[in-house]
Amino acid sequence: MAAQQKLVKSIDDFSGTSFDVPLGARSSFRCGGIASCVYSPKNIQDLVAFRRWNSEPETFLGGLSNILIRSGGIDGVVIRLKNICQCNISEQSIFGGGMRNVDACKMVASAGYSGMEFLIGIPGTIGGAIAMNAGAHNAEVADILAWIEVMDETGTITRIDRKDINMKYRDGGLESDYLVTQACFNLRPSTQDKVAMKHAEVLCERAAKMNFGKNVGSAGSAFKNPSKEESDGRRAWELIDAAGCRGLTRGGAIMSDKHANFLLNTGNATPDDIEALGEEVRQRVFEATGVLLEWEIRIIGNKVKAE
Ligand SMILES: Cc1cc2nc3c(=O)[nH]c(=O)nc-3n(C[C@H](O)[C@H](O)[C@H](O)COP(=O)(O)OP(=O)(O)OC[C@H]3O[C@@H](n4cnc5c(N)ncnc54)[C@H](O)[C@@H]3O)c2cc1C
Repeated sequence: MAAQQKLVKSIDDFSGTSFDVPLGARSSFRCGGIASCVYSPKNIQDLVAFRRWNSEPETFLGGLSNILIRSGGIDGVVIRLKNICQCNISEQSIFGGGMRNVDACKMVASAGYSGMEFLIGIPGTIGGAIAMNAGAHNAEVADILAWIEVMDETGTITRIDRKDINMKYRDGGLESDYLVTQACFNLRPSTQDKVAMKHAEVLCERAAKMNFGKNVGSAGSAFKNPSKEESDGRRAWELIDAAGCRGLTRGGAIMSDKHANFLLNTGNATPDDIEALGEEVRQRVFEATGVLLEWEIRIIGNKVKAE
């Protein structure tokens, strides 16, 4: 509430600020709490001024495709880079942090460059893809990244080379106050047709695997695959199967019958249903296999609405 009063006072200085935004309902899980304040800066200069001025806690969100927002919502300010989506396409393509992966991939394809095809079916934005080191089809963002520009809490922007970022499996290795404003990817010349064909192949494969039905929410894989040493090479879905959790339900949430590592909102799940079902799966998998699964989905916000 304090954040809201302070921001309302200065709303003229920071256009692009909205209050009580139902972000949970807009997330790919299709449920979750409200954000007390969302700021979508017009440009980088405004963002610098905002971060210098703001003293409330900040949360960064992109396409809302890898998060579960608890029912109590998010306090402080959510920063989204929806308007920061400039690009410059070449063998070293540069994208604004708020650009959607699908748009970036299509532009790269039209210009006849290859290397980003694995991202075409991954929902979300370039910033989110870097924060998560998103990947599929045996490739991940870390493989093609040249550098990123990040803004820290003081509004200072720094360029960091890929070799200086500790990227791991589904973990971009960013400091908690680093907001990714730009990223540069190493690509190679190809032809529009070849890249378009690869896109069609990737999208077709994903459509067959991830067709969960209309109005069903998810955030992709619920848990990371454990290391080979930890799990004897078994992937998260195999451990979930071994623990008998495929199809397990709680309220409106279910561990998908089709893809055992996908937690789904079948229509009326609450964030509590989803989180509790995920925790039950972790517990059951641990008891059955000795492996403690790590969440891939990032769970944020308050359990109960703060007074
Ligand atoms: C149907 C479906 C399929 C999916 N398939 C895949 C898949 O194949 N492979 C895969 O890896 N993922 C997959 N995902 C998960 C998700 O799409 C990716 O993790 C994606 O990269 C998240 O991007 P986002 O912009 O939506 O980030 P959000 O969900 O908005 O945020 C995720 C994290 O990124 C951080 N973040 C977002 N933007 C920034 C920024 N600019 N600077 C710093 N941090 C930022 C947030 O703080 C948060 O911690 C899937 C999700 C769905 C719903």
